[in-house]
Amino acid sequence: MPAKDKILIVEDEKGILSFMTTVLSSNGYDVISANSGAKAITMVTSHCPDLVILDLGLPDMDGVEVLRFIREWTHLPIIVVSARTHERDKVEALDLGADDYLPKPSAMGELLARVRAMLRRREAYTPDVLSFGDLTLDRRSNELSAAGGAVTLTRLEYRMMEALMLNRGIYLSTEELLVKTWGYESETEQGAVWVYVSTLRKRLGAVGSGVRIQARRGVGYRLEAPDA
Ligand code: CA
Repeated sequence: MPAKDKILIVEDEKGILSFMTTVLSSNGYDVISANSGAKAITMVTSHCPDLVILDLGLPDMDGVEVLRFIREWTHLPIIVVSARTHERDKVEALDLGADDYLPKPSAMGELLARVRAMLRRREAYTPDVLSFGDLTLDRRSNELSAAGGAVTLTRLEYRMMEALMLNRGIYLSTEELLVKTWGYESETEQGAVWVYVSTLRKRLGAVGSGVRIQARRGVGYRLEAPDA
């Protein structure tokens, strides 16, 4: 069975949160939630959701700050749902990298339609060329390059490097890397992840990049740039 898409709802009003959770869960999504900005940031970095629904009026910080933080690290789709209806609030959220903006209250049917559309088109939210530190990965040619040259990655090497670059700075567990590289249905052993990490490290060396794949025991792997 394919895994469900995981949605993080960031909302401090209990009634709204519980209603949204019920509706999204019954529509087949795996729902996690955060009732403050600080929790939202922790959840994004530790749970790797597929999409975030973000309220702007949070008790500890402005949702705009949460948006700014998430965008520094990842391209995951973000839908802002806010009672702020000024055009400038909407423009600011979109400028900071929100993918959609819905006024509050909005009909759940409308929100569900946006969620479905966004998850279906998630590839379109990702730029053709990913970059991290001195490294770039061209998603059309599978080419990895840095100041010292370029190499074309094999399909699996590419998928693992793409997962690491899309989740820049976030630790991905061995299990997550396995799924993102080989897919949910795969019976590939976890040891293969280590083998590919080791290959990618050689690739990074070959293109003369300063980016490293950092391993943390029991947590996972992430990219690290010398100046980050
Ligand atoms: Ca609120």
